[in-house]
Amino acid sequence: MRAVDLIRKKRDGAALTDAELHWLIEAFTAGEVPDYQLTAFLMAVYFQGMTAQETLALTEAMLASGDRVPLHNLSKPKVDKHSTGGVGDKVTLLLAPLLASVGLCSVQLSGRGLGHTGGTADKLESIPGFQMQLDVAAFERVAAKAGCVVAMQSEQIAPADRRIYALRDVTATVESIPLITASIMSKKLAVDADALVLDVKVGRGAFMPDRQRAAALAASCIAVAEAFDRRAVALLTQMEQPLGFAVGNALEVREVIDALHGQGPSDLVALTLALGKEMLLATHQAHSPEAANAMLQAALDEGKALEAFRRWVTAQGGDARVADEPSLLPAAPVVREVFAQQSGHVAAIDALAVGHLAMTLGAGRAKAEDAVDPAVGIVLNKKVGDRVAVGEPLATLHLRTQGGYEASAQALRDAFQLTPQAVPPLPLVLGRVDTTGIHWTTDMIK
Ligand code: URA
Repeated sequence: MRAVDLIRKKRDGAALTDAELHWLIEAFTAGEVPDYQLTAFLMAVYFQGMTAQETLALTEAMLASGDRVPLHNLSKPKVDKHSTGGVGDKVTLLLAPLLASVGLCSVQLSGRGLGHTGGTADKLESIPGFQMQLDVAAFERVAAKAGCVVAMQSEQIAPADRRIYALRDVTATVESIPLITASIMSKKLAVDADALVLDVKVGRGAFMPDRQRAAALAASCIAVAEAFDRRAVALLTQMEQPLGFAVGNALEVREVIDALHGQGPSDLVALTLALGKEMLLATHQAHSPEAANAMLQAALDEGKALEAFRRWVTAQGGDARVADEPSLLPAAPVVREVFAQQSGHVAAIDALAVGHLAMTLGAGRAKAEDAVDPAVGIVLNKKVGDRVAVGEPLATLHLRTQGGYEASAQALRDAFQLTPQAVPPLPLVLGRVDTTGIHWTTDMIK
């Protein structure tokens, strides 16, 4: 086969065969197809799309480029969650111990944050001693001991995706549903979980601002999971405003600890319960949504999830005292409030702007090689629907130095949109996608 023929075929709108896609990815991974040809292929896919069969074959080829994490020795039902990424999204940190506390085993590989969305690895590494670099044996050992594990994705998982993503990033070919599907699913299918729950974010702070495209992405991922015989379901969830109040690594861990003590923000807790419920149902550990909810709520209320969090942090080498003494987490030297200059009702909090501000403060990275500052970030005081009076604090900035305060405070004020009339709170779960199709939450159908 020749890459140029496959590029031409895709450019002209024909579907490639499984054998052609496997050849292309293998040859690219082996260095026999150069970056410029793969890039031309990616652009052809961007414009022509792919059939469901092509998307599946591309996923298979990318999965086959690397290692698998078999997890033969875990007896409990194994569940994995993937979020397409949002601002203030610390759900994994709360969900993993919560699932452990109701008898599931939560296994997750995670990456570092890039751009305006934070990464689970960066958040967990703000816990003193927490080890994200685990080999397969250690991954399995922690999962068996603690009932949950989150580790850094190794270079050996879907290495084709790593190289292809780097090309997509610089050639404006990221926003393609088949390419995103193959990228996400080639990594997720590498971990041998019994069920996968996807949290596909929709809105300004998400990678997919548009609801219909987010639903199409979710459906595409579910179709691939089904072809692999993997139980999977996706929730489409709102990412117009940050999730919870905290944005920034240690600040988000602190918020999770509050939630484990029963004092978490209602949206964070509600989303965690919604995803947890899907996992209990997918693994047949609860027979109804109501029973699943009750199990999860009881585990939170009775402190079992907090206990599981302590076990988990200890198993990954971290200082579990943070669960009761969050002051052991890194703290920023400068903590200053940002006050409202006008009154009104919060109509919007631009999640993208808040995410960018957090990155500028040092909580995230603009380039993969940047270091993050675990202590800095933003803690919002208000959410959409809240009333604000002049002079009331909108948020607190946690800064490394006094220097950038004025500009950051202004950027934060600009992220808030206030209106004179009352505004309802934003809905959280917009829809659910499973093998039967897309089911919009009733009040969101427009
Ligand atoms: N996340 C991924 O892992 N891959 C994409 O292509 C987009 C988001």
